Amino acid sequence: MDFTLSPELLALRERTRRFIDEMVIPHERQMPDIEDVAAWDGLRAKLQAAAREAGVFLPQLGAEWGGLGLNWVGNAVVFEEAGRSALGIQALNCAAPDEGNMHLIEKIGTSAQHDQYLRPLAAGAVRSCFAMTEPPPGAGTDPSLLATSAERHGKRWVINGKKHFISGASGAAFCIVMAKTDTVRGRHGATMFLVDADNPGFRVTRRPQIYDRSFIGGHCEVSFEDCEVGEDAILGAANEGFDYAQVRLRPARLTHCMRWLGAARRATEHAMAHALARQSFNSRLADHQGVQWLLADCEIDMHSSRLLIWHAAWLLDQGATASHETAVAKVAVSEAVNRVADRCIQVCGAQGMSEDLPLANLYRETRAFRIYDGPSEVHRMTIAKRLIRRADGTERGH
Ligand SMILES: Cc1cc2nc3c(=O)[nH]c(=O)nc-3n(C[C@H](O)[C@H](O)[C@H](O)COP(=O)(O)OP(=O)(O)OC[C@H]3O[C@@H](n4cnc5c(N)ncnc54)[C@H](O)[C@@H]3O)c2cc1C
Repeated sequence: MDFTLSPELLALRERTRRFIDEMVIPHERQMPDIEDVAAWDGLRAKLQAAAREAGVFLPQLGAEWGGLGLNWVGNAVVFEEAGRSALGIQALNCAAPDEGNMHLIEKIGTSAQHDQYLRPLAAGAVRSCFAMTEPPPGAGTDPSLLATSAERHGKRWVINGKKHFISGASGAAFCIVMAKTDTVRGRHGATMFLVDADNPGFRVTRRPQIYDRSFIGGHCEVSFEDCEVGEDAILGAANEGFDYAQVRLRPARLTHCMRWLGAARRATEHAMAHALARQSFNSRLADHQGVQWLLADCEIDMHSSRLLIWHAAWLLDQGATASHETAVAKVAVSEAVNRVADRCIQVCGAQGMSEDLPLANLYRETRAFRIYDGPSEVHRMTIAKRLIRRADGTERGH
């Protein structure tokens, strides 16, 4: 693998870094209240206009959607820069869940769905959500427990069920929902539907208080009550929903890693600044070996994360599914960024816990990354099962 980045990508990385430093980070001091969705959407629109002007908007989609058309390695480089601020990924329109939804709709949507859903989403005119997880006894870590159902009534489908922790649901224009459509086919009996938020059968029922402060639209409970949609609401083919979920989740878990790596880098910038400025016991904090080890361990975690991300991204660029490598990266990076956030708070002392620095927020928000898009334990389980199949010769190529 050649690690050389093209001059164009290096220039874009530099442009994105400057944009985040000069145009985005200054807004962090006046972040709206997290419940004020309209104020957040207003700020997002303003930052997106600035990102367009700076030539850094929508790195992940092609020019036909108003994007920069980067491949996965290019995304890895630019998303990391954008991830240095929670507002940065909104400005570039490469935040979850929209970024994963764009990828999915582009890949499996019809041209009518591209026009109706992808075009406004890519333009940043609307937000979206992705609804898979359900309250017990429904789908959680085990998606085969899917309880939300969709029944065919002539040419219409009627969806019923409840979902929870649906990121960005409040204020989203539409939702991609996973529902059971064939109880006999087990893992092959689920379908994805595109449901407009103004459908009378769709409701955001509750927005639970949650630790994070910068996720637009929260992580909500939503319900589908006799929610009627037409055949044209099916995303891809009926009963193929679980396969499509992998089309979305494999790259989506990697793009989470890319963004969180940027956030970890930002944390170390603050830790280094504090270590250089603060005195203790006749020297700078940075001169104490105990602090140096914390900083060095952050660098080791970030560099190894970057290599895992770039390798998996490179495989995706070669057309591989990279199921194994994206899972390995997800576990390693999610755990690494948690360690980095924790160490950086330690280096910054009490200031690290204050809202004056982005570290306490980062500490709260990265914790969830070890749970969503597959908890570490479940990825470890699938990684190990794959290793076992390779060892006993039952794997059919990878
Ligand atoms: C901030 C946040 C945002 C989210 N956004 C979305 C979203 O937009 N859309 C959506 O559909 N979902 C979303 N989720 C839900 C997320 O995908 C689920 O939390 C995740 O799939 C785990 O499901 P669960 O919480 O029901 O865990 P459970 O199924 O209750 O499992 C709990 C724990 O049990 C352990 N465990 C489970 N199975 C095994 C096993 N086989 N071996 C060992 N240990 C195991 C794991 O430690 C796991 O964390 C979000 C969650 C969070 C926290």
